[in-house]
Amino acid sequence: MKYPTLRNYINGQFIASKSTRSLQVISPIDGTRLTEVPMCTADDLNDAVEAARTAFHKWSKTPIKERVQVFFRYKFLLEKHLQELATICSEENGKTISEAVAEIEKCIELTEFACSLPQIITGEVLEVSKGIECRTEHVPLGVVASIVPFNFPSMVPNWTIPNAIALGNCMIMKPSEKVPISCGRIAELLKEAGLPDGVFNIVHGDVEIVEAICDHPGIEAVSFVGSTKVAKIVYQRATKSYKRCLALGGAKNHLMVMPDAIPGMTAQNVAASMSGCAGQRCMAASAMIGVGNVDNIIDKICDEARKIIPGENLGAVISQESKERIEKYITEAEQQGAKILVDGRGVKVNGKEKGTYVGPTVIDFVKPDMAVATEEIFGPVISIMRTNTVDEALAIENANPYGNAASVFTQNGGVARYIIERASAGMVGVNVGVPVPREPFSFGGWNESKFGVGDITGKSSIEFWTKLKKSTIKWNPEAGVNWMS
Ligand code: NAD
Repeated sequence: MKYPTLRNYINGQFIASKSTRSLQVISPIDGTRLTEVPMCTADDLNDAVEAARTAFHKWSKTPIKERVQVFFRYKFLLEKHLQELATICSEENGKTISEAVAEIEKCIELTEFACSLPQIITGEVLEVSKGIECRTEHVPLGVVASIVPFNFPSMVPNWTIPNAIALGNCMIMKPSEKVPISCGRIAELLKEAGLPDGVFNIVHGDVEIVEAICDHPGIEAVSFVGSTKVAKIVYQRATKSYKRCLALGGAKNHLMVMPDAIPGMTAQNVAASMSGCAGQRCMAASAMIGVGNVDNIIDKICDEARKIIPGENLGAVISQESKERIEKYITEAEQQGAKILVDGRGVKVNGKEKGTYVGPTVIDFVKPDMAVATEEIFGPVISIMRTNTVDEALAIENANPYGNAASVFTQNGGVARYIIERASAGMVGVNVGVPVPREPFSFGGWNESKFGVGDITGKSSIEFWTKLKKSTIKWNPEAGVNWMS
């Protein structure tokens, strides 16, 4: 094994789990056995919650100006260890090194936003009647939990860590059992940055530990990022025990391409969006709807896709199971009459024969009721449908149960505006293939892509990680007494 067996991180120490069940962590790049990760139980969780509750007394009373100093230092440590963190991320997830570097750069940007929180969360004060003032302040919740998926081993944890902790909470992180290594390094860097013991904790595991988190009476809020199936389970279970919950789910993002779109730019954007991180992004383009005659653009998309080489500028998908699932989708679409213009099945990378690669795949003449048109594939595959009008394209987009992202490619501002208003998605792009809002804007989809109120990053996350204290204050008797005060 390349790394020692993983341990939980509780009260500033790496501690062996009490559980005897564990899973292997295999690199999707070449099948190397990286480490073993324990599948923890409620027993391990109790220790982590206890540590976090104890730390909360002091941390929540530390002024936010002081709390963010940890994140200034953490930002510099992320920069210092960028290559090392990117290497771990790539090894355990399978993405290319340049994608992993971009992921760590995004962690730095997320941390910069947390450093600006003191400027943003100032409360409000108003004299509401003579001599009486009302004021508000954002107060931390207590112990909070963050449950994360495999596709961004560092970035998704950093969607929650800097904001939740800078706002005064103490956190239990549950990494994905498929990519559990990065979070341990994050814990070490937070400690080096001066974060007091117990403020950030890690418990590893799968279903059992997630259920224990949802049920634990000492945890106030749960954030979840993963598939829609599990997001629904977590949302229901956590809210059943009266926790605050924000659960982000899967996606099926549609790109609508108009005949007036700039061909070269559109093709590059579509190809990059569907193949980046091997298509394992919740913001990846998965379905494209060509409106009218866009044959020349589709030709160029195929040219761009052929430049994407597995093992070079295309990473591996997370597992053999995932590879087989993606290839099955492609085969079924072919059997149902779709045309495979670029075929990524059966790819082998020289010297990495045990790697789980799927090549870029472009499927044309897909019908809106085929599985490749409606379901999340989570691989480097784009399913192209054709319509005559924008309204037909929107009807297909609107009918999909997900609602993370949608994009339009056009030079016509009126058409772009028409689609922005009617797309049923939380994040919309114009001539942008991956319309991720950057901080201070917030990240979050609609419909079956998100359960709960508000978004997970940016300004919107402040509402999730804090509760509002409202004070009504009178100092002078001259203010008198009336029925309100
Ligand atoms: P997943 O739902 O399988 O797992 C996510 C987390 O839930 C993991 O920590 C896992 O251990 C846990 N889990 C898995 N099954 C569970 C169960 N039955 N009960 C309780 N917990 C369980 O997701 P994944 O495969 O790790 O990640 C890919 C998915 O995440 C895709 O659907 C992708 O679209 C989605 N995703 C969404 C966003 C977003 O912002 N909406 C961002 C990233 C990923």
